[in-house]
Amino acid sequence: MTLTGHSLIAGQTVVGGGKTAFGFNPATNEQLQPAYSLITEEQLTTATSAAAAAYLSFSTLDPAAHAAFLDAIADNIEAIGDELIIRAGQETGLPAARLTGERARTTGQLRLFANVVRQGDFRGVRIDPALPERTPMPRADIRQRQIPLGPVAVFGASNFPLAFSTAGGDTASALAAGCPVVFKAHNAHPGTGELVGQAIAKAVADAGLHPGVFSLIYGPGSSIGQALVADSAIKAVGFTGSQSAGIALMRTAAARPEPIPVYAEMSSLNPVFVFDGALSGSAAQIDALAQQYVTAVTGSSGQLCTSPGLLFAPAGELGDKFAAAVGRAVSACAGQTMLTEGIAGSWNAGAEALGSADGVTVVGQGTAGPTENAPAPAIFGTQVRDFVTNHVLHQEIFGAASLVIRYSSTAELLEAIGRLEGQLTASLQLTEEDYATAAPLIPALEQKVGRIIVNGWPTGVEVGHAMVHGGPFPATSDTRTTSVGTLAINRFLRPVAYQNLPQELLPAALQDENPWQLNRRIDGTVVAADAEVSA
Ligand code: NAP
Repeated sequence: MTLTGHSLIAGQTVVGGGKTAFGFNPATNEQLQPAYSLITEEQLTTATSAAAAAYLSFSTLDPAAHAAFLDAIADNIEAIGDELIIRAGQETGLPAARLTGERARTTGQLRLFANVVRQGDFRGVRIDPALPERTPMPRADIRQRQIPLGPVAVFGASNFPLAFSTAGGDTASALAAGCPVVFKAHNAHPGTGELVGQAIAKAVADAGLHPGVFSLIYGPGSSIGQALVADSAIKAVGFTGSQSAGIALMRTAAARPEPIPVYAEMSSLNPVFVFDGALSGSAAQIDALAQQYVTAVTGSSGQLCTSPGLLFAPAGELGDKFAAAVGRAVSACAGQTMLTEGIAGSWNAGAEALGSADGVTVVGQGTAGPTENAPAPAIFGTQVRDFVTNHVLHQEIFGAASLVIRYSSTAELLEAIGRLEGQLTASLQLTEEDYATAAPLIPALEQKVGRIIVNGWPTGVEVGHAMVHGGPFPATSDTRTTSVGTLAINRFLRPVAYQNLPQELLPAALQDENPWQLNRRIDGTVVAADAEVSA
């Protein structure tokens, strides 16, 4: 595919009237071609108005055509072939194997949402049939379904240029809900964004949909991104990225004459709790556990929202052996190229601040990598008493760094959990002999996280029906939701009730004949698609 260096607004290539920007190869700090033209606020309005114009036809699309459209996006992304992996690698420094896996996750996610659309339960059909004979008051026929909110603005993250970007989970779930999407391209991977944007635009055109169903715009977040969220045509926002940008967007959305929801995923420390039983095996088992931890911290250069930034290990001999094994394992690691020069700079500043904090020691540090922007992974150590009193120890360091915190009692662990901010995950490493110690932590952790893991690591988020990739603020801006898995579609829906509407005026999803073959909750009872409704 040819990279144009321009925005793709409602099926048209639009040369931006603002400045230009380039992608950068973080491994060499070299500029990548082509230059990207950035749009003006007037040009932005073309995208948002087209999205608003596309809403009615897209939101009422027949389920089979809607699902086929999502499948076609996945097919088109795969059809780009190696070009996508090569360009994404140049723009992010991420290895081809990681990007290939991420592409599979992205297309798998789109196909999963296609099945959600075919199956139809997300439409949430409820029917309370009329009770004309009810005394003292008859009951009207009341029917409910979920409808799409309207055009959605999506901002992707730098660290997942495919799965959390142009056709990532936010875009896939918004399109599955029936919402047109205006995607603000990430300036750290503009070419990757354009390739995927072309794949989506082709699927829109091939399906004969209104071209405003999807637009990809290039522009600075602080101006064009802000204007996008302030635009009255936009009805919800999906965001993955830094806490500062997420909070800035939440403020803009809340200050609009018509405030709208922002679903922002921001920062998380993903604490891990290691219990005595997990360390009571052989030296080789302790080494293996330490190696797993270091791998989770350093994989993808630590640039994962689920990277374990905190690990609580017991005081005493077993904990000492584990910390020593962690030190050995991380010392053997070389740094990998980080996504951008800016992210590498933030990592250095964060590691410097943590390493020089009172009561913090270095458990172990690897060596810097051979490329640019590849700092040496580091693991620090401290005690619970220092952790609970020093907020510097609670700051996310985005990249390959983590803090081992030694604890001496369950009471200390509960105190530390009480001081934690909201997190995406918490993980417990334990054996059966630790169950009694771990039990009181579960209800405490439920208050703080979106996912609790036993004998696993938080990295590697399964995309399925039961997954929660969310959590209390500041992990996300709305603790009631997830951005990964099929439940993510609920963020872009709202319920509407229809009272006493004749069959002729009811939407297809609510008609007695059930032309879309949906499961329905009739008078409070779930009824399979093939059952009949008595009027
Ligand atoms: P970022 O700097 O927040 O950028 C994300 C997007 O927001 C970009 O498109 C950016 O546009 C835009 N933006 C930045 N400032 C803005 C503002 N004031 N108003 C409106 N839009 C704005 O994040 P990143 O560099 O991609 O990712 C690194 C950070 O994301 C890390 O701190 C990491 O913790 C976090 N992260 C979290 C998760 C999670 O799931 N919780 C996942 C991945 C990353 P411009 O670049 O054009 O300004």
